[in-house]
Amino acid sequence: MEKLNTKDLVKKYNFKFTKSLGQNFLIDDTVLDDIVESAEVSKEDFVIEIGPGVGTLTKELLMKAKKVCAVELDSELIPILKNELASFENFQIIHKDALKVDFNEIIGDEKSVKVVANLPYYVTTPIIVRILNENYKFKSLTIMIQKEVAERIDAEPNCKEYGSLSVLVQYYCDTKIIRTVSPSSFIPQPKVDSIVIRLDKLNKPRVDVKDKELFFKIVRQSFNMRRKTLRNVVKSLNLLVDSNMEKAFNNSNIDLKRRGETLSLQEFANLSNSIYEIIN
Ligand code: SAM
Repeated sequence: MEKLNTKDLVKKYNFKFTKSLGQNFLIDDTVLDDIVESAEVSKEDFVIEIGPGVGTLTKELLMKAKKVCAVELDSELIPILKNELASFENFQIIHKDALKVDFNEIIGDEKSVKVVANLPYYVTTPIIVRILNENYKFKSLTIMIQKEVAERIDAEPNCKEYGSLSVLVQYYCDTKIIRTVSPSSFIPQPKVDSIVIRLDKLNKPRVDVKDKELFFKIVRQSFNMRRKTLRNVVKSLNLLVDSNMEKAFNNSNIDLKRRGETLSLQEFANLSNSIYEIIN
């Protein structure tokens, strides 16, 4: 079956792009193929696509998946999608904001759920954070996002890209960069390069933490106070009396003069677990 042609559809429906909705539509078939191939979609998979646009990626997914549910915010796109994808019985469109929709309701008792999307860039991070934190049942997310955000997600300790987002995503997922994509692959062209990245949900979080909230509180504060030592970071959270500070660091075998940006996920877990032992 022939691919949908984004440029032709934009012309056919006289579609006007809304910049504030992050509408940069893909026009490069090699990127389309790479997204679909790297997502490894099969007839067992229930795919959620966030932001289908005029349906170019959606159609490729529909041919591979058991079902595709697309969540689109722009009301102008709903009739276009309904019309162009009318022949697919396995297609469902939900006209809602991906930041508000109840994914559990959409997923129901589906077993093999994959998210595939060319995400609207203005809400990339909130969407990823929401999907991970709310613990939706999904196997993988294969998404096109700004290069800079992908590099933060994939970053290791001791580099400037390493931050709270790296720790959050790596806590829940394996990360794999698939390819970079230049602005010329889109209409209209974005100002930045993009990356296709795949996140595979781990069976259980990468590290064992006694208190998830405490763990992420320490992680967030460490990167909010990037230039400060961990002693000052922990002190600022008012978790421990001074006399217990050394004990917490000794128990977790971490030098309190280090900065948070040097800590691996395991070290953040060790530190938060030893603080947890002391305060509970
Ligand atoms: N999938 C299409 C493609 O690859 O050409 C379009 C991708 S475009 C980068 C992002 C899409 O997300 C647009 O269709 C836009 O209208 C939609 N969108 C923007 N904000 C959204 C939101 N909060 N919830 C759902 N869809 C949204």
